[in-house]
Amino acid sequence: MSAPRRISILGTTGSIGQSTLDLVRRDPAAYHVVALTGGRNIAQLAADAAEFGAEIAVTAHGDCLDALRSALSGTGVEAAAGEAALIEAAARPADWVMSAIVGAAGLAPGLAALRTGATLALANKESMVCAGPLMLSEARAHGGRILPVDSEHSAVFQALLGEDVGSVERVIITASGGAFRDWPLERLAAATPEEAATHPNWDMGQRITIDSASMFNKALELIETHEFFRIPPERIETVVHPESLVHALVGFADGGLMAHVGPPDMRHAIGFALHYPERRHVPVERLDLATIGSLSFRPADETRWPALRLAREVMQAGGLSGAVFNAAKERALDAFIDRRIGFLQMTEVVEATLDSIGSHARLVDDAIHLDKVLEADHLARYTADEIMARL
Ligand code: NAD
Ligand code: MG
Repeated sequence: MSAPRRISILGTTGSIGQSTLDLVRRDPAAYHVVALTGGRNIAQLAADAAEFGAEIAVTAHGDCLDALRSALSGTGVEAAAGEAALIEAAARPADWVMSAIVGAAGLAPGLAALRTGATLALANKESMVCAGPLMLSEARAHGGRILPVDSEHSAVFQALLGEDVGSVERVIITASGGAFRDWPLERLAAATPEEAATHPNWDMGQRITIDSASMFNKALELIETHEFFRIPPERIETVVHPESLVHALVGFADGGLMAHVGPPDMRHAIGFALHYPERRHVPVERLDLATIGSLSFRPADETRWPALRLAREVMQAGGLSGAVFNAAKERALDAFIDRRIGFLQMTEVVEATLDSIGSHARLVDDAIHLDKVLEADHLARYTADEIMARL
């Protein structure tokens, strides 16, 4: 029998983290868990770390360290807290690291893991949006690899296996349309965070679910497609597909489309990344196409979802504009969740932030320096807050 694979999970306590552990739990002898990280859900973090015999558990919050220490006492699991500890834990030697922290906060820990030469299973799309060139160059420099876990990008990756990227004519990323797909436009301004946080098909964290309703999630994914696969923006399309069964399609020079079809269950994409390059059993529902009957598609309307237009502008501008876009979106989302701004105002805030610091953000070479990316992120957060204070 081969030695257990050393794995770490950044963002263990979240939706992707828990789905990852669900797969690991089915074959625990195959894995040695190095580091697990989380936020304020100390009970979950400690329970998981004890169950899997992790070397170390890290909470992102210094004020939670005592609680984590006492929850882990007697288990032999080391406890640590804070951003530096998180990055250190991510840098512990491991074969495979799941990057499943939400937001730009996932960037530095993911990079630290990549710099050890580990395979990074990337759910944290924000890393690619903020610093795609840096992520790819660090993977290359240290002999590591990034495997996309976002379902659409896993689908594109799978459709491209054995293919020449040069023969790709277009990539089509599907979108469920989120909670407000069928709402009349005039109702959107008054939509509440609770209404936005209800997804028709996927069970995900609160932030990405609201981003699905606004299509900021799809906007991030279009940019992620451009950055990860180096596909020009004009070859990346999106289409609304309410059933969420076709995750993405790749169109080739000969006019053929390769589609990836599967149930809306992230364990497929996680399992693919966990077992790659092998294909192993993953316990997701097997689709019965005759029962499903039909699949439907409709245009993604940029009047309803202006975030899609902004994504195009960001891809065209390049450089640090992805970092600015994401940071402004994170602040606008915080404000929407806190009921300080309305649903439609999120896009207004992001667009105004891009307009305000767009030229600064276009410095293309800067996107490969972490400090420049973080500077753009901070400036965008500050600018978005200023804009919201004036609303
Ligand atoms: P979630 O909110 O359920 O979990 C987020 C995790 O990150 C938690 O463990 C939380 O403690 C941790 N975290 C939050 N803020 C942090 C911070 N500042 N520092 C350190 N840790 C922090 O989120 P999720 O739905 O699991 O999504 C995780 C990532 O995966 C996101 O980037 C999301 O876009 C992406 N993703 C998720 C899904 C899904 O089905 N949930 C699908 C595709 C991509
Ligand atoms: Mg996705």
